[in-house]
Amino acid sequence: MKDYWQNYIDGAWGDGGAGRVEVVNPGSGEMLAEQALADEADVDRAVQAAKRVHQSGALRDMRPLERGRLVQAMGQYLLDNLDEVTNVLTREQGKPLWEAEIEVRGAALYFEYYGNQAATVEGKSIPLGAGYYDFTDCEPYGVSAQIIPWNYPVEMTARSLSAALATGNTCVIKTPELTPLSNYIFAHAAEAVGLPKGAVNILCGWGHQAGAALSGHGDVNQIVFTGSVPTGVAIATAAAQNVVPCVLELGGKSAAIVHDDADLEAFENDIRWGIYFNAGQVCSAMSRVIVHESRHDELVERAVKVAKSLSVGPGMERTEAGANMGAMVSEGQRDRAAGMVSDAEAQGATVATGGRKMNIPGAFLDPTVLANVTPDMTIAQEEVFGPVLSVLKFRDDAEAMEIANGTQYGLVGGVFTADLDRATRAARQMRAGQVFVNEWFAGGVETPFGGFGKSGYGREKGREALWNYVQTKNVAIKMKA
Ligand code: NAD
Repeated sequence: MKDYWQNYIDGAWGDGGAGRVEVVNPGSGEMLAEQALADEADVDRAVQAAKRVHQSGALRDMRPLERGRLVQAMGQYLLDNLDEVTNVLTREQGKPLWEAEIEVRGAALYFEYYGNQAATVEGKSIPLGAGYYDFTDCEPYGVSAQIIPWNYPVEMTARSLSAALATGNTCVIKTPELTPLSNYIFAHAAEAVGLPKGAVNILCGWGHQAGAALSGHGDVNQIVFTGSVPTGVAIATAAAQNVVPCVLELGGKSAAIVHDDADLEAFENDIRWGIYFNAGQVCSAMSRVIVHESRHDELVERAVKVAKSLSVGPGMERTEAGANMGAMVSEGQRDRAAGMVSDAEAQGATVATGGRKMNIPGAFLDPTVLANVTPDMTIAQEEVFGPVLSVLKFRDDAEAMEIANGTQYGLVGGVFTADLDRATRAARQMRAGQVFVNEWFAGGVETPFGGFGKSGYGREKGREALWNYVQTKNVAIKMKA
């Protein structure tokens, strides 16, 4: 693997004005490579390149069907280079190789889906009587700025880049400082399918420097951000100052309500995926389980069994899908999660299993289950972003919903029951952008995703996301009498 990675601006690879950052392999604790860091001038060059391509009409004026083909071809490029990018992703992010493969395949799916949708973004005609002919057009905004988090660097970029290109926008992507390397694949893909130079620009830089310069740039026309609430607030403020729209995909403290009639054996699978996939570093992780008091002990026992069944260690050694988990993204994130577990214990929670840093090099945390968590505890309110499950109890349906809705977030939620009426009632009452019934993460690229409350606004995924990337123009034509 290369030991120095550059930024990609206007079709050329180059150094950054802000120097370099060391990228560490969290699976070993060793330095992996250096990444160039962009400064404000680099960001400006990238935005000007994207603006130039937008104004040239090269993408905007292309027949959408053809644009869609290019977008689909980018997805195919990812699949054609699956092993290479999967390797880079595992080394920089820590996830098992097979999870990295799921991520890259998921990324390719976005290009397939939005490539397919490109030709379906249609306006409408509006009747104004015999004297007029009126129609609407959906025009791309122009330069789309996309600021990416470290947990799914490939999939998150794919999600916004594919929809933005399919609708005729040009893009500047700010990659995360911890996991910037794997985004190289999008530059290669853009070149391979023949997008014009400057249509896709990819740079890494500090959030407070390159990120702030990008989100506050006067020639950016639309912003997509995925990350934490405080950064989301800073970006929304910058967007407001330039009067440009933004989509915010922020954090969550999502809850599964498990009723007394739920199938707990099947629920073991939801625990495995819901909180231990990507070592829990998933915005829509099932970080809280609110279980009926009559099934509490059984659920904790099953959760402990799932946690203990996972073999935890370096992602590069975990090639096969199965009961295993990789590193967290950094020792800093791992220590933060371990600290939150200790604080929860001090506040009265019981560590049923895990909670400790593992005694091997790298950023590993034992898969953790906390019992006797109550809604007022910090662990029940704040996002851990790690492999830590909090189990809470409820007595009746109303109390379950009050606990589920009792955080500042509202990203996703779940209800587990054999009673369809109860499930649909809960789905209506849940303050969340997406509700899973009897399977955590049910849904796909086709289903809209985004938050209520402090989890953000705007929707990614599904057809709904397309409308983030286009603005309506109405054309009214006066006919001759
Ligand atoms: P973060 O907010 O620290 O960083 C995200 C990105 O924003 C990084 O690229 C960073 O460099 C950049 N950034 C930081 N400060 C900035 C500023 N002032 N202006 C512009 N850009 C800036 O978040 P993180 O630590 O990378 O990711 C973890 C958080 O993201 C968690 O809270 C998680 O829930 C959330 N997340 C949400 C989703 C979702 O889809 N809703 C997906 C992944 C992660």
